[in-house]
Amino acid sequence: MNELIVNVDAINARIESANSRVSTPRTYVGMSGIGDSCTRKLMYTFRHCFTDDIDARLGRIFATGHKAEDDFIADLKSAGLDVFGEQDTFTGVHGWLRGHCDGFVKGVPQDEETLYVLEMKTSNHSGFLAMKKKGVKESKYLHYCQMQIYGYKSGATKALYMMMDKNDSSYYFETIDIDIEFAKLLEQKAERVILEEELPYKIGSASWYECKFCNAYKICQLGEEMVKSCRNCEFVGLEEHPDWRCNKSGKLLENYDICESYCTAEFLTK
Ligand code: SF4
Ligand code: SF4
Repeated sequence: MNELIVNVDAINARIESANSRVSTPRTYVGMSGIGDSCTRKLMYTFRHCFTDDIDARLGRIFATGHKAEDDFIADLKSAGLDVFGEQDTFTGVHGWLRGHCDGFVKGVPQDEETLYVLEMKTSNHSGFLAMKKKGVKESKYLHYCQMQIYGYKSGATKALYMMMDKNDSSYYFETIDIDIEFAKLLEQKAERVILEEELPYKIGSASWYECKFCNAYKICQLGEEMVKSCRNCEFVGLEEHPDWRCNKSGKLLENYDICESYCTAEFLTK
């Protein structure tokens, strides 16, 4: 009798092919990314100059983080904290800067009446150990900035940061004070990205470690062509969120599909 040989590798390959995708570009600048060390990258992103490939594995990482949030909230409630306002939306810069916080909490021990922004994350083990050693500002600056701007926009004076180690399900908690002046600087940074037509400086050369991991690397460091979109066309103009106007035809754009008059905005090629 012939022995049946099962190809288990094909299962993974099929999952990859069924679930890999190119991310849908956001119409706005996200508060979750405003702390990025490279303003130039934020401008490339806002102008839809490149696409992000999300393979099935990365998609699972994102999904795991989202699914964990319900458990986090249940645990906080079991500890007597009041959790509310999940996914409240905040905006700035005429609606072009947007963010959705994980929620708010009250009832933090020894500070029961104060309103805290709540931010919940999962991490691999090494990231979790770094968090325990250095704290959120040094270890995850993006998350720190995200909480600052949510606090500024909501009126909360503090934030509670919660991280779970995906290795052993341990929790890390930290509270931070909201620094309004710092948060305003973050909003000004977003304003530059959204309203200015001048490409910010590069944070490093082609061999700089942050650049090597950047999705805009090829267009920024190697001068390759960007993905063509009305948002990076010479003739486009910004209206109220989420509208862009084609200054060639005078019409509001219904999508960002280019026409035969497309011409890359010169400021993005500097
Ligand atoms: S390659 Fe470097 S300088 Fe260029 S956008 Fe990316 S991080 Fe910024
Ligand atoms: S000229 Fe064409 S490509 Fe440029 S903004 Fe107008 S419709 Fe888009």
